[in-house]
Amino acid sequence: MAEPLPLPALHASHSGCWQRGASGDTAQIGRGQAVMAAADTPNLVLNAPLVATRLGYPDLSGLDLLELFAFVHPARFCVPTPRGLAHALELNEPASDADVPEFLQRAASHLLARCEAPEWPEREGAWSVLQSLARLRWTWAPVLAPHVAKPERAERWLFARLPEWEEAAERPQPAQVTLAEDAVETRLEALTGNQAERREGQRLYSRKSAHVFAPRPARGQPHLLLAQAGTGIGKTLGYLAPASLWSETAHGTVWVSTYTKNLQRQLREESRRAWPERRPDGSQPVVVRKGRENYLCLLNLEDALQGGFSGRPAILAQLVARWAAYSQDGDMIGGDLPGWLGTLFRQRAIRSLTDQRGECIYAGCPHFRKCFIERAARASAQADLVIANHALVMINAARGRDTAQRPTRIVFDEGHHVFDAADSTYSAALSGMEAIELRRWIIGPERGSKGRRRGLSARLADVASYDDEAGDAVEAARHAAEALPSSGWLDRLAENAPSGPIETLLGAIRATTYARDESGGQEAGYGIETEAAQLDGPLVELAQEGAAALAAIRQPLIKLGIRLEALLEEGPDWLDGQGRARIEGARHSLVWRIDTLASWQAMLERLGGPTDPQFVDWLAVARGDAREYDVGLYRHFLDPMQPFAQTVLEGAHGVMLTSATLCDRGAEGPDWDEAVARSGATHLGLAPEQIAATSPFDYASRAEILIVTDVPKGDLAALAGAYARIIETTGGGVLGLFTAIRRLRSVHGRIADRLARAGLPLYAQHVDPIDTGTLVDIFRDDPHASLLGTDALRDGVDVPGQSLRCVVMEQVPWPKPSILHRARRAAGGGSAYDDRVIRARLAQAFGRLIRTRDDHGHFVVLSPAFPSRLLTAFPPDVPVTRLTLDDALQRLGEGLLSPDATLPQPAAEQGEWPR
Ligand code: SF4
Repeated sequence: MAEPLPLPALHASHSGCWQRGASGDTAQIGRGQAVMAAADTPNLVLNAPLVATRLGYPDLSGLDLLELFAFVHPARFCVPTPRGLAHALELNEPASDADVPEFLQRAASHLLARCEAPEWPEREGAWSVLQSLARLRWTWAPVLAPHVAKPERAERWLFARLPEWEEAAERPQPAQVTLAEDAVETRLEALTGNQAERREGQRLYSRKSAHVFAPRPARGQPHLLLAQAGTGIGKTLGYLAPASLWSETAHGTVWVSTYTKNLQRQLREESRRAWPERRPDGSQPVVVRKGRENYLCLLNLEDALQGGFSGRPAILAQLVARWAAYSQDGDMIGGDLPGWLGTLFRQRAIRSLTDQRGECIYAGCPHFRKCFIERAARASAQADLVIANHALVMINAARGRDTAQRPTRIVFDEGHHVFDAADSTYSAALSGMEAIELRRWIIGPERGSKGRRRGLSARLADVASYDDEAGDAVEAARHAAEALPSSGWLDRLAENAPSGPIETLLGAIRATTYARDESGGQEAGYGIETEAAQLDGPLVELAQEGAAALAAIRQPLIKLGIRLEALLEEGPDWLDGQGRARIEGARHSLVWRIDTLASWQAMLERLGGPTDPQFVDWLAVARGDAREYDVGLYRHFLDPMQPFAQTVLEGAHGVMLTSATLCDRGAEGPDWDEAVARSGATHLGLAPEQIAATSPFDYASRAEILIVTDVPKGDLAALAGAYARIIETTGGGVLGLFTAIRRLRSVHGRIADRLARAGLPLYAQHVDPIDTGTLVDIFRDDPHASLLGTDALRDGVDVPGQSLRCVVMEQVPWPKPSILHRARRAAGGGSAYDDRVIRARLAQAFGRLIRTRDDHGHFVVLSPAFPSRLLTAFPPDVPVTRLTLDDALQRLGEGLLSPDATLPQPAAEQGEWPR
């Protein structure tokens, strides 16, 4: 065991601050002392932004163990807490807050010692990156230097080490195959294991799923199956059985689409039962595919490493380069890049290393043959199973680069989210932020900004010099794009001094929104909005001028697209294979921009005219913490399943939507009509097959719903007191769900310190400087921790076992009364529509509690007036009790539902909470 590193170490939690000197004495100190200590000398800390928040000292810097971990073990998982780091390094975890500074010194020594070990697996590239980090004055560089030996031979730099992808022949179209039911059952048995208990629900589900793979009866008429699958029936293997059998016999690709990254990870694991990691030829039968904005762009990284980034972001770029060499797939958002790395530096810096703006230059890029995005796209074209997300499937179906890659057999798991994903995919927004992105794509970045980003004329310089018409079109587009907002537009709007027709229009939109909004958001500091109706004449005129300005940009882009197409056909001498691919890439991104401009123009041209009943249009000012960050005009489909039907269903041969909460459950039982309407089937005149497999879990004995009747609505002190007492009673393990960030922050601020002193850490979205995925990792890792959050946690959390034993909802999750909601409510049956939305949310929240057969717990609603008609959202046999908070605490404390629970209780500091 290495000796603790003799450097001072500092730890701050909600319960206090502790420092250990270089020579080895730990003392509890006040916040002021801690701030002074941190300002004097660099201390060892863990998660500097979090420590800074705890100390209320935003400029805190130090020797962050997480940065050291990211250098020593790039692409390895680590929960960013003392306990999590201890597990990742296989060290004893500190027993209390007071032991953390000593642990930090031990962990630092351990990590440094690993760099000296001959078997250090991530040695390659470390020395070279460390030299760059030393030049950037990274605080760890001098500490690490004596431990990282100079290699005998010069190390290849990252871009030389990454493997190249191989070009492969296009896959022929799949064979027409009908799967026999007994073959599907045999495959299911093979996947679940012969020893697995026979689950009738799963077998039926699997057989029904096989129907979506049958030959399509008519063009535009895919097989469509709606499958409600209760938690625990084993739906993943249920559909993977026919999917793997079909891909094996038909030699085609099945797409499984999910909404959450959790399920993607789980699918990756489960798919190993049906497919090997690699085929004999080295290709991958199963590929996880994300949107291109998730992946590292190597050209952006090269630019960042060569001076595009400075200061802390430049250090981040070096750590990302370490990671890129060891990453499985280059996915920066939810892949093997630690989610906490972005918060240690800057989330924006992470995003600017991806291909956010569609500026890829394809074969013109020196890293094209090593590009992570291109690799994933090529691998998925050859895959039997592509695991993707709803938005990507919809975008690929609508405007995939290659028709052969369009999904035709699709399983939408987490199918209850397809509506929301379609809603955002098929929406349009002419906002300042969107428009300035387009300007930069055409003109290039404003003067003074660093980096390689270049405008259209620089990207297509060779084409423009060869083809006069293309050159003129580029120049005309460049000139017309001057009409779009430029840097500083928000300030100019606030000062009523807009520049150009689109900024002027946005200024009028902003003024109208402030004049008409009655949502209460103005006072509360939230975003505000108003419907796009009854607009004044001057605003309508500005909209027409704006539409003309957009048309002036769109026309030359269309001309340019035609010229690019002609060039590809003519094939001049200088146009080699790489050049072709680059022009094809440019044409593809051009089509996307032309479509965007067309949708903006259509929106503007309609302002002042009769409303189109298929759309909902509104004006909005986006604000957070009372600061404006965007202004614009927005359009959503009233029913987004209409474009979904046209772009996804119509071109597909078989589609399945499945979820535990696909169907609403009203007083009369499952509402299939609503599920059918939300599948898009009616837009193609389809009559989908339906199946419901009920959960095998014994909810009646494993869960209980407690509706607390004496926490008055609007009484924040009482709400905070209730949360604190519940968390104390359960000893943590509470997931607290809020409908308003303001209340969440207020509750957290009132109780976090007190709970921490009782050994019950409380984390919160919108408070802690930690990304949501990492917060869930922390919560999962520590059974005494509790987590507060909003919508994203309601159904993005999969925490089986002891770590989650109580879900608390602060009130009925009413839908936000937005303009869009008002329109859908009016079209969907008024209050019945609201009830369906709320029941879906309650069902999703309840679904967090019981993830496995052995889970148990309580679902608590702190709402005295919880309507009984909403109770059908929960499984029918779960007991529901209305009771006072004291009685609820007694129920929670009795642990009647958890006779097998042996969770140690931390030493709670007792005291009076507000009641
Ligand atoms: S091919 Fe495009 S996305 Fe890939 S590294 Fe090059 S510029 Fe970036």
